[in-house]
Amino acid sequence: MTLTKDQIRETLRAVTPPGDAADLVTTGRLLWVATCEAFTSLKLAAGPGPVARMEQAAHAAHTALAARFAQSGTPLQSLIVEFIDEQGTSVHTTRFGSPTPPNAAAPAPPAQAPSAEGHRPIGGLAPAAPAAGPLPGVRHIIAVGAGKGGVGKSSIAVNLAVGLARRGHAVGLLDGDIYGPSIPTMLGLGALEQSVHQGRLQPFLVHGVKAITIGKLVDPEKPLIWRGPMAHGAFKQLTEQTAWGELDYLIIDLPPGTGDISLTMAQTLRLAGAVVVCTPQKVAQDDAVRAARMFQQLNVEVLGVVENMSYFIGDDGKTYDIFGRGGAEQMAQRLGVPFLGAVPITMSLRQNSDTGDPTANFTGQAPAEQRLAKSLDQLITNFEGQVALADMRQGRARPTLTIS
Ligand code: ADP
Repeated sequence: MTLTKDQIRETLRAVTPPGDAADLVTTGRLLWVATCEAFTSLKLAAGPGPVARMEQAAHAAHTALAARFAQSGTPLQSLIVEFIDEQGTSVHTTRFGSPTPPNAAAPAPPAQAPSAEGHRPIGGLAPAAPAAGPLPGVRHIIAVGAGKGGVGKSSIAVNLAVGLARRGHAVGLLDGDIYGPSIPTMLGLGALEQSVHQGRLQPFLVHGVKAITIGKLVDPEKPLIWRGPMAHGAFKQLTEQTAWGELDYLIIDLPPGTGDISLTMAQTLRLAGAVVVCTPQKVAQDDAVRAARMFQQLNVEVLGVVENMSYFIGDDGKTYDIFGRGGAEQMAQRLGVPFLGAVPITMSLRQNSDTGDPTANFTGQAPAEQRLAKSLDQLITNFEGQVALADMRQGRARPTLTIS
């Protein structure tokens, strides 16, 4: 039998990190516990000391928990200890153990955490060669999927694309959700007309991103009823007959679920990986697990899971865990794939989507908007890191040593 949250709390009641006045529970440093099949996550108050002090606390917690799990007969699979500062921001993470994905087609990515000094073990990567196949000028083709609609898959795809473009990458965004395209609204394509030049679709250049969507080729008010082969053809046409030019990233917003478009995509494009979007609730996780398994069956590496609508920040600046923050992270642990980050539910993100201004998600000044921008920034940093690791694993890049 694996341990319950209460048993984990009890165990940590006996842990007093070096320099602390009392144990983790009595001092209130233990903020949050999540556990699933011996994959465990803790959030601890960062406290005043340097990173080395946090590392000591994490190691003390790990030693006690590993012993207690062993006693229970189920060894601790992995432990993630995240340190949170007074503003609620995650300032440091320590990871123990690397989970192995059950039935995973792709190898499990190694846990990638900054060292105590704050820099990563690999200093830099030689740039990846563009992918072969029908899009030779595109370096990384990344699918964004979800187990079901409404979890914010398109919102994450759009913000990932815009955020990467803001960092100077050449980015394309393909609205592959041909059954319910939402990119025209989210990017504010409004009255812009689709143009074709020399038989190729010209992508819209908006918010620094080259975007293409079926929503600009059909009547937006008519339901899009595609039979399998038509859907296959429409997706292939959008992908292959667009003048993308040279791109660092092509982000594909997939339809929700595990349907035929994903199959077409995996058969025709050489993907660098996929991102799975999920909300924290248990019911959403079950669908997301199916989506992740689908990618793995299609031999597409899952680069990570994003928890959207993770928590709500009120006008009072307080954080409310409406849906049970952390559920998607637990799911990622269970699947043995990286957790890319949590994005809060905010009024501004919804408004900016409706008004077609995703750039505003990165520039808002109100406290909740700043928290949103920070979470997106963290997500994009983690995403870039995982793509670089996938490049190495999949043989697209060799590590280079940079000394600074
Ligand atoms: P999906 O692509 O999974 O169907 P969407 O990205 O279209 O979901 O999002 C559904 C709705 O939820 C949209 O109105 C969108 O603006 C809103 N939404 C998504 N994520 C957030 C968030 N983090 N905060 C506020 N609203 C959100």
